[in-house]
Amino acid sequence: MEFIRPDFLLFVCLFVLLGLFIALNPISRTHKAYLAFHFIMMLWPLGQVGVRSTDIPSYQHFYLTVSFVALSLLGPGWLAFVLFLTKRTHYLRRPPRLLAFFMPALLCAASAIFNPFGQFLKPEDGQYADRQYGPLFWIMTFVQFAYFFIALLHMFNAHRTVRSLNERKQLATSLLGMFVLTVFAVLDLLFNVVLSPWLGVVQGLTSTGIVLSDICFVVAIYRYGVFDLVDTAKHKIFEQVETGIVVIDESCKVLDFNRSAVGFAHLVKGETFDLERILLSGQPANDVSEFLFRYRHHPEDRIRTEILLTDGPYRSVSLQISPLMDQFKSLQGRIVAFYDVTEQRKLIDEMNEKNEALHERNLELIAIQDELYRANKKLEKAAITDGLTGCFNRTFFQHYVEHEAFLCKQRGVPFSILLFDIDHFKQINDRYGHLAGDEVLRSTAEAARSALRSIDLLARYGGEEFTVFLPQTNRDEAQAVADRIMASVVGNEAWIAGEKISVTISMGIVTDGSDEAAAASDAGEERTDIAGELRALFAKVDVALYKAKNDGRNRVVVS
Ligand code: GH3
Ligand code: MG
Ligand code: MG
Repeated sequence: MEFIRPDFLLFVCLFVLLGLFIALNPISRTHKAYLAFHFIMMLWPLGQVGVRSTDIPSYQHFYLTVSFVALSLLGPGWLAFVLFLTKRTHYLRRPPRLLAFFMPALLCAASAIFNPFGQFLKPEDGQYADRQYGPLFWIMTFVQFAYFFIALLHMFNAHRTVRSLNERKQLATSLLGMFVLTVFAVLDLLFNVVLSPWLGVVQGLTSTGIVLSDICFVVAIYRYGVFDLVDTAKHKIFEQVETGIVVIDESCKVLDFNRSAVGFAHLVKGETFDLERILLSGQPANDVSEFLFRYRHHPEDRIRTEILLTDGPYRSVSLQISPLMDQFKSLQGRIVAFYDVTEQRKLIDEMNEKNEALHERNLELIAIQDELYRANKKLEKAAITDGLTGCFNRTFFQHYVEHEAFLCKQRGVPFSILLFDIDHFKQINDRYGHLAGDEVLRSTAEAARSALRSIDLLARYGGEEFTVFLPQTNRDEAQAVADRIMASVVGNEAWIAGEKISVTISMGIVTDGSDEAAAASDAGEERTDIAGELRALFAKVDVALYKAKNDGRNRVVVS
């Protein structure tokens, strides 16, 4: 391989580097595919020139090999392009199909490279400039035409189904390219292989076909946007969205911005993006110092703030800055997005105002509710108490006693009831008047209450009669309580018109004994019977009180 000189090696190195650059950089897959195909196409004319530029047979053979390898790959290249064009690339997604797709071309390329027993081509007179083609060459030619034929079938099929005028134009242009290449390849074969002994060599036929077909290829790609519909759409969106978008590099220089961005800030490509000026040009809706700090010192953060632009009509603008990272997670630049949120801001402010009003209304309602609660409590109290003496009234007393008596019976504990009446009260009324009588009633009730235990309940039974319920209290304990009440009332003095008045009371006591209670409980007595039992007890205590009156008043009689 003496033709592999340092310069040639360097050429190959540069070629490989270019390939790597294209493969590794973020250009679209379409462009990569096209460039790969383009390089393959370039190899044919290169090989043809190479063959004629040297007399050394091994060099000539090398160049011819390059040409025929390139030619072997041209067929699948065109077919792949047609599949792209007709949106049938899914045919090639499965590895077995991909292998079957390329295998004939790869075998052709291998036969061109290894030229077994000179079955691909043989030199004439030791020179490859004039050569004889063997059966492998014809097989390669057949395979190439087969690829072209399949590609043509796909195109015709697609042409029948495609409705869009644009796609029809793409297909027509590509068909033209394939037709031209086929015609020139056939002519080359005819003139330079079949008829060359008689007509002589006509140079550059296949190369011309390749160039013309490539022109069609390029036209189909760029004029009709074969592959780049998505990119075009993205560009359209970038230009037409209402969001102002600015792209800045890592040193904050403006690289690009869309039409909407002009409405939010003064922007010049290549100049530094002056965030501070933008923030201070309006009224910052909130504190921007932290936003600026993070913009300057944490460029990899995604940050957002809201500003109020005051040039022209007031506008609330949401300003968001996001980092642009490459695949190695290093910062390439940033995207600044401006979004007019005036309407949303207005709605939010309105909502807030309404919320505040609602909150105030709520507070008022709570106050009213409190008032109602207190009034209710008062009413509740009024419903169960006696207005003059502040004691519980008879209705409440009856309910209460019914419930408590039931509980005592259930637990098997005794309870007692006192009934007392002020002695000769009528005389007080007659002598001092009703108001004075009321005062005596009130102060007597107070005196009786002060002698009670916390578990006892005092109620006004009617007129100047009072009753006390003593839960869990046997006869002796009831007697003790009664004595305390008597003493307290006797010791009590009401001041009426500068005169001290003191009264006595007569009292009856009745006790529901524990034995009876236990017996009742054992018998499983119903609660409804309590009322009847209580009635009987009150009758008894009433008799006891009557007896106390009859026996001379100011005394206690136990039933
Ligand atoms: P006794 O010792 O027999 O109980 O004699 P008494 O005068 O207390 O009995 P009587 O039943 O004859 O009189 C009770 C009086 O109490 C009659 C009624 O005018 C009076 N009285 C009833 N309720 C009230 C009241 O709320 N205020 C005032 N000032 N007097 C009342
Ligand atoms: Mg009385
Ligand atoms: Mg009375």
